[in-house]
Amino acid sequence: MTEQDIQEIKALLIAPKNVVIIPHKNPDGDAMGSTLGLCHYLIKNHHKATVIAPNDYPDFLKWLPGNDKVIIYESDMSNAESLIEQSHIIFTLDFNAFHRAGDMATSLANSKALKIMIDHHQQPDAYAKYMFSDVFMSSTCEMVYHFIDMLGDTENIDGDMATCLYAGILTDTGSFRFPSSTSKTHLVAAELINKGADHSEIYNAIYDTNSYERLQLLGVALKNLRILPEYKTAYITLTQEELNAANFRKGDTEGFVNYGLSIKNIIFAAIFIEHKQEGIIKISLRSKGAFSVNEFSRENFGGGGHTNAAGGKSDLNLIDTVEKFISILPRYKNTLNS
Ligand code: 5GP
Ligand code: MN
Repeated sequence: MTEQDIQEIKALLIAPKNVVIIPHKNPDGDAMGSTLGLCHYLIKNHHKATVIAPNDYPDFLKWLPGNDKVIIYESDMSNAESLIEQSHIIFTLDFNAFHRAGDMATSLANSKALKIMIDHHQQPDAYAKYMFSDVFMSSTCEMVYHFIDMLGDTENIDGDMATCLYAGILTDTGSFRFPSSTSKTHLVAAELINKGADHSEIYNAIYDTNSYERLQLLGVALKNLRILPEYKTAYITLTQEELNAANFRKGDTEGFVNYGLSIKNIIFAAIFIEHKQEGIIKISLRSKGAFSVNEFSRENFGGGGHTNAAGGKSDLNLIDTVEKFISILPRYKNTLNS
């Protein structure tokens, strides 16, 4: 984002605008935190701003300030479509390709509104008039803070904005443990605490709300964990039956994949989750160091993301998907062991 871009955006935001802010499909903490954080900021600056999520998100995010005003495209389509229709500006946050907006992709592509992207994923598409894209950023929430800083307006960040942005930084950095969280990330987090984010309360609201069933499901996942030492790889499977038995709710499997990476000498972890209704296996991939799960997913499972965290999917059944996964590992053996 150039100085010229910032000046143009500033000029654009002088008069009240209709703004729609969109996170990616299956929104996570960073997606909801960044969209809601920015939404509070724009509303405070007299714009009419609405967050429209492509589909629903987990309960552990439903306490975020402004959560009650989020529109879910999937279940409120005509309302969402008319807001998109009337919008002057569309912000797309925490994703960089239209298809990541799920069923909203077409309306997004057809909309004449001016588009602004704020995102930290790799290989961005060039659909936005203004692109703030930086793969070295810990989170989109950190970028929203920098965006407001570039607008020269951090003194207007209030407790609600700070809470939303802090929540997304916390989740996307794995509580500040991934290499992507820099000293700058910590400085931003400190600023957000100064502006009213209660770090302890936010942590509790996100992580200490387990249901008994979720912990039972974690037990099943850990039992299903397999390791392939020659590839420094660990993987977990969960069948639809196992999910049903644990009364699965959206978000319950969040973070399970990381247990594989916590094993000594394991640098590549995967989880394969059966979604019978959609007829797909959802895949989450994580790595440590230089092994790029973004590349691995793009090459084999039609997904992508970051170097150390990516998603993907498979149309094969669960057994065949795992078989495919194991059969392609030899191609990566050298990289995994280097
Ligand atoms: P998760 O495994 O938590 O679903 O995703 C890990 C990371 O990869 C997140 O930052 C997520 O936004 C991104 N991601 C997940 N699926 C895809 C995908 O299909 N394409 C791209 N480009 N990124 C993805
Ligand atoms: Mn993110």
